[in-house]
Amino acid sequence: MHVEADSAAARHGAGASGDVPEGSREKGKGTYDLVVIGGGSGGLAAASEAAELGRKVALCDYVKPSPRGTTWGLGGTCSNVGCVPKILMHRAAMLGVDIGEAAPYGWSLPSDKIHDWETLVEEVQVFIKSTNIAARKKLVTNKVVYHNAFAEFESAHRIKVRTAKNEVSTLTAENFIIAVGGRPRYLDIPGAREYAITSDDLFSLKYNPGKTVIIGSSFIALECAGVLSGLGMDVTVLARSKLLERLDQHMAEMVAKYMESHGVKFIRRCVPTSIEKIGDGTPLLLKVHAAKRDSGDPFVIDCNTVLLATGRVPNTRNMGLENIGVTMNKSTGKIIVDEDERTSVQNIFAIGDVIDGKPELTPVAIKTGRLLSRRLYGGASTRMDYTLIPTTLFTPLEYGSVGLSEELAIAQYSNENIEVYHSHFNPQYQALTMKDESVPYMKIVCLKSEQNRIIGFHIFGPHAGEITQGFSLCLKLGAKLKDLQTLVGIHPTCAEIATYLSITKSSGKSVLRTFC
Ligand code: FAD
Ligand code: NDP
Repeated sequence: MHVEADSAAARHGAGASGDVPEGSREKGKGTYDLVVIGGGSGGLAAASEAAELGRKVALCDYVKPSPRGTTWGLGGTCSNVGCVPKILMHRAAMLGVDIGEAAPYGWSLPSDKIHDWETLVEEVQVFIKSTNIAARKKLVTNKVVYHNAFAEFESAHRIKVRTAKNEVSTLTAENFIIAVGGRPRYLDIPGAREYAITSDDLFSLKYNPGKTVIIGSSFIALECAGVLSGLGMDVTVLARSKLLERLDQHMAEMVAKYMESHGVKFIRRCVPTSIEKIGDGTPLLLKVHAAKRDSGDPFVIDCNTVLLATGRVPNTRNMGLENIGVTMNKSTGKIIVDEDERTSVQNIFAIGDVIDGKPELTPVAIKTGRLLSRRLYGGASTRMDYTLIPTTLFTPLEYGSVGLSEELAIAQYSNENIEVYHSHFNPQYQALTMKDESVPYMKIVCLKSEQNRIIGFHIFGPHAGEITQGFSLCLKLGAKLKDLQTLVGIHPTCAEIATYLSITKSSGKSVLRTFC
């Protein structure tokens, strides 16, 4: 069925509220000033910003079910199958740790603490539904016309949108922003599509996943390993090469060592070759076949769940991008944009996870979307600054970082020009339970030739995300070691260690923590 755009908008219940007086937008190439494709972090931000600036805006969002049939509502990856459910489950796991450590603080709790996976998933999903509704309401408030439909370009100014019921309509616009994100990559090995799940399925899984093998060794693999292990699951991570390849390797090994000491098993330098079902039930009984990379020796692991955390592929297929001349990186499938986020087609822009060579992070997608709409419709000129973006890995002890890893700093500036100041430290509030003196840890990477300007900040410890957010300003403002040393610490906190850093890594002196 093919219907005209305006009637389709009305049928979706947003047509009337989406109308903006004609005079408030430039007359030109279409019904809308802007159509945003993708209702995730970046798309929602860009659409709302443009609408708030008085433009006539439509947004299309469509979620293809995962191979396991999982689907979700408006809001994109972060709200539905990414940051939000992840952090709630991380909290669940950390509560378990806290309960285990409560006795010396005077709490008498049952020693056989039992976690109920189904309750957690139900509560998480109820919360996610509320975020879907909130996102929808915001579009209505901002008079953005919403199409729950898959968009495909027919020309540079026209897209065809198709709903789940196969209703087709066309939308025309002067400008388009592509914010379609990505989806988990499936391994091309027997059994992967039939039996494995991905992060798209995990946070809504109706049953306890049981003994789990996680394939991959980057952000999603380690965060999910931390969550599942914290909730009591037997977890094995199969790593093909380095852990957290893009992050500081000294810190990555510290994360792995800590996780190992808390029950997560790592099998290094191995590749999975097939996944076989060996028993029915909920969960299933599976056998993962794999081989060691160096020796080629095969091995198997029996488990209930296989979680693929093997990267993500951009949602650029079947969108007609090739037909209208949008240039993509052939190897990544991502869209190439210039510093204004403009694609090779003059009126088409792209933001968020789908663009080539930029970090796949929610705040990056949001900021890029807002800045782009302000430049397009608000007379602004500020471009997205992709440098010095802080991140945190939400493993049981968090790892936060901003700026260069030690390896990259050395590669970029030479070993002689780099000094690393570091220390383990003592979260005083955990002093009754934390016995391992080799964690937590902070290090800063300094550039000697610029009076020890801080070019890398790394912390592995409690609340690393909160701490890194604040310290990222130091790097943005070009702070030097001596600037940190002028600060007075807040005692007793974890972050205060930054004000005391004075031992260099090259000195080889012990930095194991002491209790004050
Ligand atoms: P998305 O949020 O993916 O939105 C794209 C939307 O477009 C989707 O709804 C998609 O279905 C839709 N779409 C696709 N094709 C079409 C089409 N043709 N027509 C219509 N709609 C279409 N980032 C952080 O900063 N912190 C974290 O802690 C964090 N944790 C994460 C944990 C996990 C498990 C995962 C998977 C990701 C995590 N991320 C995290 C990354 C973050 O989720 C993404 O960077 C962010 O969601 C990207 O936003 P986006 O707008 O580019 O795309
Ligand atoms: P990444 O691209 O970071 O890592 C992919 C992992 O899969 C690597 O360990 C890679 O190993 C492995 N892999 C790829 N192909 C194979 C294969 N054929 N066999 C075995 N292993 C394989 O992806 P993630 O999915 O972990 O994360 C995607 C993005 O999401 C991240 O870049 C991050 O920006 C974002 N994210 C952010 C979070 C946060 O901010 N806290 C949390 C979660 C995600 P190898 O190194 O050998 O290639």
